[in-house]
Amino acid sequence: MKFYNKTCISSAALEPVLAAAAQRTGARSTGVIVKATQRRHSWPGVAGMAHHAAFCYAWHLRRNGGKRMVSTDGGYFSITIPKPAENQDWLHIAQEIFKMAMHEWVHIHDYQLGLRHTPAFARKNASGRRPRHDSRPEELRAINCVDEHSPALLLKHQDIIIALACELETRAKS
Ligand SMILES: [Zn+2]
Repeated sequence: MKFYNKTCISSAALEPVLAAAAQRTGARSTGVIVKATQRRHSWPGVAGMAHHAAFCYAWHLRRNGGKRMVSTDGGYFSITIPKPAENQDWLHIAQEIFKMAMHEWVHIHDYQLGLRHTPAFARKNASGRRPRHDSRPEELRAINCVDEHSPALLLKHQDIIIALACELETRAKS
């Protein structure tokens, strides 16, 4: 996993959570590009998007603002997390980040298997929730995998998830 962090959250707190979320999804994390971005506002949703592109522009990676092409054969997903604001349920948000990453890893696994029949975009409506009527097979696979495995994984990885929650809280106060 090649991690690009454009958030104010420390990579030391964020990366282990995103990496651990690959477990049980079947995805190989090697070579997969994961990009974390941040919302400008403290809207509480976490959003993700998986891409089948073999490359992506990582335009924000350079200090001078220049663009750089990053290539990968393992897939690519981005995850957008809310800007930390005070008085939020940090543990809940950290858990949502884990679950969203897990969802995207399922799409990455599909990509690695060569299942490209439809783009695996993680569509969200305005409320930040996935539409309930989304019955595309790749979405159902991702939703079912998270439903089935996230309770045990959240427990198993509670230490790094709590550490992320603490980091989010710290950033909200700074
Ligand atoms: Zn999805």
